[in-house]
Amino acid sequence: MKELAINGGEPIRKTVLSYGRQTIDEDDIQAVADTLRGDYLTTGPKVKAFEEAVAKYVGVKYAVAVSNGTAALHVACLAAGIGKGDEVIVPPITFAASANCVLYCGGIPVFTDIEAATGNIDVSKIEEKITSKTKAIVAVDFTGQSVDIDKIKEIAKKYNLIVIEDGAHSLGSEYKGEKVGTKADLTTFSFHPVKPVTTGEGGMIVTNDEKLYSNLILFRSHGITREESLLVENHGPWYYEQLELGYNYRLPDINCALGLSQLNKIDAFIARRREIVRRYNEAFKDIKEIEIPFEHEYSNSGWHLYVIRLNLQELNVGRKEIFEALQKENIGVNVHYLPVYLHPYYKRIGYKAGLCKESEEYYNRIITLPLFPSMKEQDILDVITSVNKVINYYKK
Ligand SMILES: *Cc1c(COP(=O)(O)O)cnc(C)c1O
Repeated sequence: MKELAINGGEPIRKTVLSYGRQTIDEDDIQAVADTLRGDYLTTGPKVKAFEEAVAKYVGVKYAVAVSNGTAALHVACLAAGIGKGDEVIVPPITFAASANCVLYCGGIPVFTDIEAATGNIDVSKIEEKITSKTKAIVAVDFTGQSVDIDKIKEIAKKYNLIVIEDGAHSLGSEYKGEKVGTKADLTTFSFHPVKPVTTGEGGMIVTNDEKLYSNLILFRSHGITREESLLVENHGPWYYEQLELGYNYRLPDINCALGLSQLNKIDAFIARRREIVRRYNEAFKDIKEIEIPFEHEYSNSGWHLYVIRLNLQELNVGRKEIFEALQKENIGVNVHYLPVYLHPYYKRIGYKAGLCKESEEYYNRIITLPLFPSMKEQDILDVITSVNKVINYYKK
């Protein structure tokens, strides 16, 4: 057996393969350059066009572009009316923004454990967390796999809650044959470079609800409107009013030009991601030391992330040693995520370890392997070879 790089052997790769990255072609660059030569750098025709393109792609009435996925979550919470003391159900295995958006509004994130098979919120544990103060559920489509949104909506209907789907990982993913974004009251997307398509920084909220849509528009831009039907007074053609305390969360035309160009390729990106996942699954399915991602019948994931779970009882070392060994082979591994409430900030405001047992156990077992559309054949082989090499060395 080849010596591990961590023990002084030759690494499988000479250069680091990152866990995720953007795929940018000449036509993307051209689209941005064209916008820079035009009349609008910020709110102009590309914003509207990008919003319409995302709405059409997802199959919803309304889409609102904002400056990033975190702003999308914040504005969604504001539009949903989340305020001081309101409780919001949130899963712990997610990026901190999924819970921070609740805190921004003065609300209280109520962490609800995951199902270990997918890392998504365990729908059967939601009802026991609901109190008279519960106002909403933030459901995260972890790794791109949709939550069981029909079941979540059933619960929401029973308790009169708003459902916000954090689809940062799941633009283009499907639930029961429909694109993610058509079912929740509000669904948010992120266009960070590692996400399904990118605008550099960027985000979007989609909804079919006209009232929520008009709230989103207000909160995106200072709470200011020129809409005649909304004005309290009207002093003339120059006149606008601030109706709410909103933010400047606008997404520039420059970014939207990139987004439009990227959106043309999303189906090809996702097809490639699915192909890589199929290759990984095939290569790893019989290795008893690791578990490959599980996908529910109702889901057709776009696969933002490929997360393996280690069967630690089959290994002589922990996750940290496996992670470091893979890193030394120049595989850009990652961990998604530390349960949000274990971050020092959350502990400082009163959350304690032990809150969500499945999530904490999950965290101890997971490693994210590289996955992005422009991965080459050799990159895929390098990941597979490295995983085999490292697991073989450390297995019992
Ligand atoms: C990336 C991400 C966000 C935040 O998106 P940004 O565009 O980086 O602000 C929110 N939630 C999840 C689950 C994410 O992965």
